[in-house]
Amino acid sequence: MPPGDIHPPCPPPMHLSPAPRSLDRRDPVTSSLSDHPDALEAGIAAGLPALERRLAYELACLQLPAARWTHPHRHQDREVVDVAIVGGGMAGLALQAALQHRGVQVRVFDEAPAGFEGPWATTARMETLRSPKQLAGPALGLPSLTFRAWFEAQFGSAAWDALDKIPRLQWMDYLRWYRRVLGLQVHNEHRVTDVWPRDAGVVELRVEHAGRAHAVFARRLVLATGRAGLGGPWVPDWARALPRAQWAHSGDAFDPARLRGLRVGVVGAGASAMDSAGSALEEGAARVHLLVRRADIPRINKGKGAGSPGFVHGHGRLSDAWRWRVRHYINEQQVPPPRNSTLRVSRHPNAFFHLGCAVQGAAVHGDVLRVATSAGPIELDFLIFATGFVVDWTQRPMLRHVAPHVRLWQDRFEPTPDQADAELSASPDLGADFEFQARDPAACPGLERIHCFAYPAALSLGVITGDIPAISDGAVRLATSLCGLLYAEDIDHHYARMQAFAEPEVFGDEWVATPLPSAP
Ligand SMILES: Cc1cc2nc3c(=O)[nH]c(=O)nc-3n(C[C@H](O)[C@H](O)[C@H](O)COP(=O)(O)OP(=O)(O)OC[C@H]3O[C@@H](n4cnc5c(N)ncnc54)[C@H](O)[C@@H]3O)c2cc1C
Repeated sequence: MPPGDIHPPCPPPMHLSPAPRSLDRRDPVTSSLSDHPDALEAGIAAGLPALERRLAYELACLQLPAARWTHPHRHQDREVVDVAIVGGGMAGLALQAALQHRGVQVRVFDEAPAGFEGPWATTARMETLRSPKQLAGPALGLPSLTFRAWFEAQFGSAAWDALDKIPRLQWMDYLRWYRRVLGLQVHNEHRVTDVWPRDAGVVELRVEHAGRAHAVFARRLVLATGRAGLGGPWVPDWARALPRAQWAHSGDAFDPARLRGLRVGVVGAGASAMDSAGSALEEGAARVHLLVRRADIPRINKGKGAGSPGFVHGHGRLSDAWRWRVRHYINEQQVPPPRNSTLRVSRHPNAFFHLGCAVQGAAVHGDVLRVATSAGPIELDFLIFATGFVVDWTQRPMLRHVAPHVRLWQDRFEPTPDQADAELSASPDLGADFEFQARDPAACPGLERIHCFAYPAALSLGVITGDIPAISDGAVRLATSLCGLLYAEDIDHHYARMQAFAEPEVFGDEWVATPLPSAP
């Protein structure tokens, strides 16, 4: 479970040099950047209030947010919100902001407590983000909304230059600020338990909060449910037969302090494997064995190499065969663990990297696990499966009413045998507006009102539905789609409103009508 307190902003990572004499810093908190236009260039931390004023100015220049223009709907005598979003993590927040900027009414639900959405301050164990610090992330094209602006406003540009990677909890602090400064409202500790597409153009949600359930109607529903958004952790079947006290998945919220003095096996060699191993070692595990199926640890991040505006905007336009080929290649090559995370493990003398060591099963002998591997048996006290996530609708009961109807890639695309890929086969076959498509449209009318803004959309649309690099691109694209859909299906109303519009721009007193002069 997340800790009880919101993590305070990290202190400046280095001592700030004194302000140049030319700058008046009498009141660094309330003085604005416009009072000191050279503050940024001088590398001065002008404070968050100044940044927030600058952001407000930028939004005003762009006339954001737009006024609500959508037509209010009702169903069963209840309000129907324009768009409901499940998930108030980075993706849900960015989409909410993009929709609000476009004058669309949004309601966001997240089961996590406020400030603890997503993995950053809950299940993640890395010291820093993998993502480079300079990525614009969810800033939606607004310079003052970037992590860099937030960081420099507090700590100055020298500290920014000195920063290597973004500390994990500091990223969460930034997302908390992002939510506050944009006035985004998330209904926290609200768990969506069921969704049903209904006739009459609405999706019904059942939402649980404080032990009570209520219904919410929305014209469109977006699932912004994260990396495992349509499933959950993957572990081999035999693992589920082991006593739950003797194993965990890297995505589980568990206290690594319980590993003190134990012999721990970590299955996998990706980022989560290193993070799990590193935190176990730091908490005093007796020995940590990384059990790596491959003969070598992946070294090159092909997804990073592919990154470009073309990759972001072009993937969804590719043929099926190309989309599959690109995603399969990235999957097959695997993403290497970050170097700093790997060094965090290897600096411990009681960490052991076993390559070419595929786990095959485990037998329980009292408190001991006898683990069979392709390199021979090993005795352990605890196993951590850093084995990733799968699309598995059974792990998302919220989606049980729609899951049988959603068309998957495996329903209509057959890869060549050398490109077989279970993860891709199970991915939803989304339309261009991120919408689910039905295997049989007659069997589940309204399914297309549910849009997937979670990681499993990557095969259909590219990596624009999670991960920091292109989250703004995805949010803007989906918000634009939703605007268009909401407008088009209410065209009668918008047309009538246009006809009824009666605000004159000239009043008839600007000219005098003159008859043509009579012909000579
Ligand atoms: C350990 C770890 C490290 C990562 N590091 C990086 C990194 O360095 N860089 C990077 O770009 N990406 C990283 N990622 C990927 C990361 O998950 C995404 O970039 C980011 O969290 C995506 O945001 P999101 O909003 O899509 O999902 P999340 O942040 O996971 O948010 C999803 C939200 O949905 C809510 N939710 C789910 N189901 C329900 C329900 N039924 N009712 C109500 N609420 C619900 C959850 O409570 C959660 O808050 C990492 C992921 C993990 C697991």
